[in-house]
Amino acid sequence: MEQHSNTAMALTSDMPNKKQTVCIFGTGDFGRSLGHKMMQCGYTIVYGTRNPKDTKLIPQGASGMSHREAAETSDIIILAIHRIYYDFLDKLKETLCGKVLVDVSNNLKINQYPETNAEYLAQLLPESKVVKAFNTVSAWALQSGALDASRQVFVCGNDGRSKEKVMDIVRSLGLTPLDKGSLLAAKEIEDYPLQLFPMWKYPIYLSLGLTVFLFIYCIIRDVVYNHVTKSKDFSFFLVISIPNRVCPIVALVLLALVYLPGIFAAVLQLYRGTKYKRFPNWLDKWMLCRKQLGLIALAFAFLHVLYTLVIPIRYYVRWKSNSYITKQVLDNKTDSFVTEYAWLSDSYVALGILGFFLFVLLGITSLPSVANSVNWREFRFVQSYLGYLTLVLCTAHTLIYGGKRFLNIGSYPWGLPAAYILSLIIPCIVLVMKFFLIFPCIDRPLTAIRQGWERKPKHLCEPHNLSGSSV
Ligand code: NAP
Repeated sequence: MEQHSNTAMALTSDMPNKKQTVCIFGTGDFGRSLGHKMMQCGYTIVYGTRNPKDTKLIPQGASGMSHREAAETSDIIILAIHRIYYDFLDKLKETLCGKVLVDVSNNLKINQYPETNAEYLAQLLPESKVVKAFNTVSAWALQSGALDASRQVFVCGNDGRSKEKVMDIVRSLGLTPLDKGSLLAAKEIEDYPLQLFPMWKYPIYLSLGLTVFLFIYCIIRDVVYNHVTKSKDFSFFLVISIPNRVCPIVALVLLALVYLPGIFAAVLQLYRGTKYKRFPNWLDKWMLCRKQLGLIALAFAFLHVLYTLVIPIRYYVRWKSNSYITKQVLDNKTDSFVTEYAWLSDSYVALGILGFFLFVLLGITSLPSVANSVNWREFRFVQSYLGYLTLVLCTAHTLIYGGKRFLNIGSYPWGLPAAYILSLIIPCIVLVMKFFLIFPCIDRPLTAIRQGWERKPKHLCEPHNLSGSSV
């Protein structure tokens, strides 16, 4: 019976107590926003501030006291002050002894200090229990209620019970705590808000570099060449014709680059005969940003579709078509219908439409909400098999666009091949290599390696063949 009531008491004390008093040091932007939100959720807030008499900055309903008095009212003290001012806490060592100190601080840049802010606080006050939390939530989001994008609150600390108390507060504010482990994880948590699109950086640089290169290449080939050798002004190509040439090329190359690291990884695993060796750093990074590469490729493909839709209303296109008809009338001759051209033109458009449709499907399945609702096999089916099918369709679309033009000497002004030929290099390499990788004699050992099988180094193999005794 007694044991029963003890358990009940323990449970009650573990439950988040909405009327709990929580102390916040600092009446700045973050302290005020967090305090306000916590009061809305039923907490009693006491601010520890340098100017307790100045009530203007203290939210209505909360009280302001000196740091020492405020710390005495609660077991949990949230430090909404910058790291540079932490040393004043030294004077409050005794009052803060055994209490939970929540470090919410961020720095201005990564590796600004040798140790993390949370570890620094723990060194300063070894008798207190430091928990890192809330640093990824902004004061603005707390104030405006726009917490959808950042509902997760990373929490770490060396004392489990203290961490639980802080996670209870997080939950009662309608946020989701994510336990990252001990205080060692503070580095990762503190670096998090300082990163600027870490996964997008390289894909964006690559696509920008590729776009600029191809743009300049097309200008030289289509505008400058015509100007210099034929005195024709095709500068208006800069607005639609060249972008509509560059966008599909960038899209196709980036799509191929999504699949190329997988091919490299497969070749490396086959060569090493094991999957238990780390890939080189560059390959690891490349594999990690495949989704971003694919999404940027989709954006370029989308632009290509938009540019293509406006082709019929372009003055240049209408003028060309009208001149062609007029020429036929003047010559009193009608060009005959060529079924082969009709086939090529329809196949080119059909492959483009199907390729784009699958491309969009790939993009949709990479969204977290969709990816979370399919199982691993379904995700792999879409991203790998349908992905390769998209690459095949888009490559075929480009090949048909080029047709036999690459055989024509006149298609190489100043010896420069058409941009579409450049765009086919990487996709063709990927598709040819993938073709070899699906051969059963290569696929079988690769699948075995990926399931954990390892090829033993020669010197570890039993010399049965030498003795001829083993079967
Ligand atoms: P803030 O507006 O500058 O407020 C800091 C507060 O610290 C001041 O209002 C002051 O409160 C107190 N303070 C200043 N000098 C002090 C000193 N010498 N000794 C003791 N206390 C002093 O900064 P904040 O934006 O609220 O940020 C506070 C902490 O939250 C920072 O560590 C920041 O990295 C972190 N944070 C902020 C945000 C955000 O969106 N703002 C988001 C996540 C994390 P009193 O005048 O009441 O003493």
